[in-house]
Amino acid sequence: MSIRFVCRNGHALKANVRHAGRKMRCPRCKVAVWVPQPQLQTPRAENNLTDTQAVRLLGSYHPSQRTLLAAPAPSPTAKERPCPKCNTMVPMLCRVCPSCNTYLGS
Ligand SMILES: [Zn+2]
Ligand SMILES: [Zn+2]
Repeated sequence: MSIRFVCRNGHALKANVRHAGRKMRCPRCKVAVWVPQPQLQTPRAENNLTDTQAVRLLGSYHPSQRTLLAAPAPSPTAKERPCPKCNTMVPMLCRVCPSCNTYLGS
């Protein structure tokens, strides 16, 4: 197993795990670089992060969908009536049918 890291000048380096915590020289620019310790915990931590992010996304997604589904349903049925002439659903606020211009009254 090897450790990947970057030297001060941005050169991608690779070192054996046995050299972790030691100093080595970048073969390209001869700069002294500390070989970092291998981070075995990183993949697990990333998994935990994505899991909580997914939960958060789901948590925010569901309530918004609920309000979207709930909002339009009650209003049209309660405030509309069918036109006696053409059966078009006309809002209660409209006194004239928009499709056949029949006067519906208030
Ligand atoms: Zn370098
Ligand atoms: Zn009508």
